[in-house]
Amino acid sequence: MDILYDYPLYRPPSEANSLIFQITLGCSFNRCSFCNMYRTKEYVERPWDEIKSEIDLAANAYPEAQRIFLADGDALNVATDKLIQILAYLRPKFPNLKRISCYAMPKNILQKNDDELDKLKTAGLDMFYLGIETGNDTLLKKVTKGATSKGIVQSCRKAKQHGYILSCMIILGLGGKRYTNEHISDTARIISEITPDYLGALTLYLEDGIYNEFMTKFSEPFTALEDIGILEELERLVIDFQPVKPVIFRANHASNVYSIGGTIPQDREKILFLIRDLKLRPEMLKPKILRRF
Ligand code: SF4
Repeated sequence: MDILYDYPLYRPPSEANSLIFQITLGCSFNRCSFCNMYRTKEYVERPWDEIKSEIDLAANAYPEAQRIFLADGDALNVATDKLIQILAYLRPKFPNLKRISCYAMPKNILQKNDDELDKLKTAGLDMFYLGIETGNDTLLKKVTKGATSKGIVQSCRKAKQHGYILSCMIILGLGGKRYTNEHISDTARIISEITPDYLGALTLYLEDGIYNEFMTKFSEPFTALEDIGILEELERLVIDFQPVKPVIFRANHASNVYSIGGTIPQDREKILFLIRDLKLRPEMLKPKILRRF
């Protein structure tokens, strides 16, 4: 018997082969104007007995699992004691376990004190996926992210100080034509400052259910970037991103115009060569019909 998930269910592309446990449903914030992922769900923290029986079920079916992803939108919002209870139960059930990860918002990390973050790390939580989206404060406000660039940098630093692996996401095209310069220069600045272990660049894709909300909250006319504009943002980002140590970079999400990846700085020139080639040969880009968020 398999786990009965509460759909829609999301996980980062790199967790495609992970075992997923929904310890929460939905997102405790659920107000980012570009994100339609959990609009159909009320945020709920699932009871321990339900989580426990799903862990038991999965431990029988997939005892060899090496990676676990705790869903939904921000499992780190759960109280530390309950998270530790879940982590402590998971570890012995999956003897080959190498990594436990979850999505986290900046506020989730900032709300945990140093002792809590240390305890969670010791209990087996290894990695956070955190949406930066942009480093520009005007845009963060316009897309109602509920975070400032300063708070984002602080939260990422805090996660790293406590030994967590950090995978961050930014969104190309988030400011449309009007804010493209500020979006990329501020984003490149904060991702350089943060230097996450992994960086993913997604592309703005407004699903029908969220389109009007995004436009209303943007509070001025929004002109979306064409594919060439997206490639230009990506090119500038790759040039301006100056991490203090190598970062695995991916722009291979379903929303992207093409699948691009490498390690920055060593693959910077190779990535730039590809982007510049794509600008000259737009027919190589993924058809719009195959893109989604
Ligand atoms: S982007 Fe993340 S924090 Fe914002 S609404 Fe979506 S799931 Fe929640």
